[in-house]
Amino acid sequence: MGAKNLNLPRPLSHSSISLYAECPQKYKFRYIDRIPEKPKHYFSFGSSVHSALEYFYSSKEPTPPSLDEVLAYYKEHWISAGYKNQAQEEQYREDGEEILTLFYRKHAPEYHIPLFVEYQFDMEIDGVPVTGKVDRVDQMPDGRFSVVDYKTGKALAKGRAATDEQLTMYQLACEKLLGAEVCRLSFYHLPSLTEQVAERRGSALVRSLEKKIVSTAEAISGREFSPTPEEKKCFWCDYKPLCPVYKPQSAPPPAAFATEEDVSTLIDRYGELLAQSKTLDGEANFLKDEIVALFEKKGYVRAFGRKYEAVRTAGERWEFPDKKKFLEFLKEHSLYDRVLAPSAPKIRDLLEDEDIDSSLRKKLAALAEKVETSELRIEPL
Ligand code: SF4
Repeated sequence: MGAKNLNLPRPLSHSSISLYAECPQKYKFRYIDRIPEKPKHYFSFGSSVHSALEYFYSSKEPTPPSLDEVLAYYKEHWISAGYKNQAQEEQYREDGEEILTLFYRKHAPEYHIPLFVEYQFDMEIDGVPVTGKVDRVDQMPDGRFSVVDYKTGKALAKGRAATDEQLTMYQLACEKLLGAEVCRLSFYHLPSLTEQVAERRGSALVRSLEKKIVSTAEAISGREFSPTPEEKKCFWCDYKPLCPVYKPQSAPPPAAFATEEDVSTLIDRYGELLAQSKTLDGEANFLKDEIVALFEKKGYVRAFGRKYEAVRTAGERWEFPDKKKFLEFLKEHSLYDRVLAPSAPKIRDLLEDEDIDSSLRKKLAALAEKVETSELRIEPL
């Protein structure tokens, strides 16, 4: 195996390979068109805590810096980008301080100087340039390596360290470039101070990653950037306004069709529009809630975008805690008929309700008329 004549915008990394696997179109926006994503608070938080730990392990003395020094470094190098507001940022900053304090108390007494902190590697796998950074590499007494990657997210899936490709890549890099075997791979989940440890990867997992690296490089070089939309991932994608999947179509679909091919075009277009409308509905509701919350917090009644204005109007709705009493009142005053209108779904429910006597349901059915209709169910292939 060997990738030839590659045309990559930059060496591959664990995150760029994952991004390509998530959606090739998204990879294109990020690395070919070089359109940056919006800053995310969880990346800023992760980087802030990581750099404080890098500082903690940077001492070349047998003792680490003091806790006060670590926390001062953390505050000084705090990354503010991407937080929703000041309150959220402050909460995260405090959480980070707590994490670092607990980490310090646990690990300062057993402080050792790692072989590498933030070990930056560049290697070639079957002709594909690959780059990355390992949070910490320790050398064990027998000369082999222990690789540690810190995680600051809310939770770490059970058993993830056993197969995760990020750790496989780090093993590959350390063994290729540092010349000794890796004996231990771990994800260190900082918020819970727990470590998920896995043994050295066998050749099957290493080979499978190498194949993925080469196939990803070949697909990128071959300009394979077809979007792979999915409701959940598109909902959070910064590139959605630019994405061809969600751009309005200039030509309307044909009003009539004559061939099998036309039918399949209409089915696909209909399916796509349904998927888009679901995603757009979800996004619109989410944004509406965010805007209303902001209006309430700031006391706004009206605010402006570049193309639209939003006005908050007072709304109200009636609720009837004692429904029975309410209905009795309506009946007593001959108002019941004014608010009760038979609807097709309610009548269908009555006709299908087995708790209602069947002769009664038959009589009811005799008063109604059943009209044949066509329903269309559409599922992704
Ligand atoms: S919106 Fe969806 S399909 Fe388009 S780039 Fe983003 S993830 Fe891919």
